[in-house]
This record gives sequence, C-alpha cells and structure tokens, in this order.
Amino acid sequence: MSAPKPVYQRILLKLSGESLLGKLSYGIDIKTTLSIAQEIKEVHGLGVQIAIMIGGGNIFRGIRGTAKGLDRVSADQMGLLATIINGIALQDALEKQGAFTRHVSALEIKAMAEPFIRRRAIRHLEKGRIVIFSAGLGSPYFTTDTAAALRALEIKAEVILKATKVEGAYSADPMKDKAAKKFDSIRYMDVLKKGLKVMDATAISLCKDNDLPIIIFNLRKHGNIKRAVLGEDIGTKVY
Ligand code: UDP
Repeated sequence: MSAPKPVYQRILLKLSGESLLGKLSYGIDIKTTLSIAQEIKEVHGLGVQIAIMIGGGNIFRGIRGTAKGLDRVSADQMGLLATIINGIALQDALEKQGAFTRHVSALEIKAMAEPFIRRRAIRHLEKGRIVIFSAGLGSPYFTTDTAAALRALEIKAEVILKATKVEGAYSADPMKDKAAKKFDSIRYMDVLKKGLKVMDATAISLCKDNDLPIIIFNLRKHGNIKRAVLGEDIGTKVY
C-alpha cells in the first residue's frame, strides 16, 4: 500500500503561546514544546512545506497589561517580545528533531532572528526549511491570528491550521457550556455574525476576502496536524 499523500503542499500552522504551556500556568514547558516539534517534523517528512506563526499568550498578552494600567502600545510591545522568546524555544526544539529552520521576526532583532523578506521566506520553504514567524506583524493593536492570516496569504499557503485545546469551533465555549455544539464546517460570515471566538474578526475577514480556508483543530491529540494535512475530517473547517 502506498503512503497517504498530503492534500496541502504549503501550510501555515498557527500555534498560540498557550500551546507551549503543557501543564504549566505560565511560561514554556520544554517537554511539550519538544513533542509539538516532533509532530511538526513528522508532517514535514511527508513533503509539506511548513510555516508557523507563534503567539505569546503563555508569557504576556497586551490586553492583560492594559487591564493593569499599562499603555496599550507598551503592553503590546511586551507581548511581541514574548512571541520572539517562544520562537527561539520552538526553533531549538525543531532543531533537536533534526529539522532545518529559520526564525523570521517582524521586529528587527538580527542576532536572534532574520527579518521578514517575503521572497526569502518562500525560498526557505522551497528549500525544505521550516519557517517560524514571530513578533506578529511588528505593530501593536494586532494579534498573531491576524499576522498568521496575512503571512499565509503572502507566502501563498493553501490553508491555516489553527491549533487549539478543543476539538474545533463550537456554538459556545465548550469549557463552560456542556450544551455547546461543535461545527464540522462553518462559513466565515457565520463565524463573524455569531461572534465565535475562533480567531479575531480581522483575521477571519482577511481569510474571507481572499478565500483562505482555516482548519481549527485540537493540538492536544497527538497526530492531528498530520490528520489535517492528509485531508481527514478533523476539527472545524472555516471556508
Ligand atoms: N501582538 C501585537 N501585534 C501583533 C501580534 C501580537 O501587538 O501583530 C502582541 C499583543 O499584545 C498580543 C501578544 O503580542 O496580546 C501575544 O500575541 P497573541 O495574543 O496573538 O498570542 P497567542 O494568543 O496566540 O498566544
């Protein structure tokens, strides 16, 4: 029997900072990070080009800072730095799996990551390097979800795989509401109309205007990234 073939050649994987938490309530759980890296490396081995947008919520979120009295711009700059820290951890974890990687930051921090140059990022992917995007869009008032949507379009990814800790998009928060219903698929417009918290509205709108599908899936189930790229019915497809 021949090996199953991926249905996507180039993907953008959105990992929130929280996905690196493991059982911690703050920071980076190295074991969890290594396990995610191992899964990514395995998917890469199928011949899929992989770019990752890494979030920073496990360390700092701008909104959290403003709630405590920080100016939004300063707080978001702290959040942006948090994503760079995660990017370094993820790069290290991927390299431990033998992957070739490039860490590409939207903020200039040359000693640690290279600046974003679209054609160069695409070239890295073509050469089999896993590209880790950090520092979102480099500007405050945005999220790494929106940055994921923009970078996915720029590098011509065919899909965004949005990792979460639940099975997909639900009618209500499944952690709080037992009656919450999971959607197998949902239109962009319905996500916006229903105000579903799957990705922020700017990210959804960008994907909608450019027909970029999103698959929301549970990262905590090992093998789900692979299932998604093989076209299995997992999570929720936003189209
Ligand atoms: N952030 C920002 N501009 C961006 C992306 C992120 O200012 O383009 C800041 C913002 O403060 C955000 C933090 O970085 O709260 C961490 O990103 P995000 O909350 O998207 O991370 P995630 O929820 O994916 O862990």
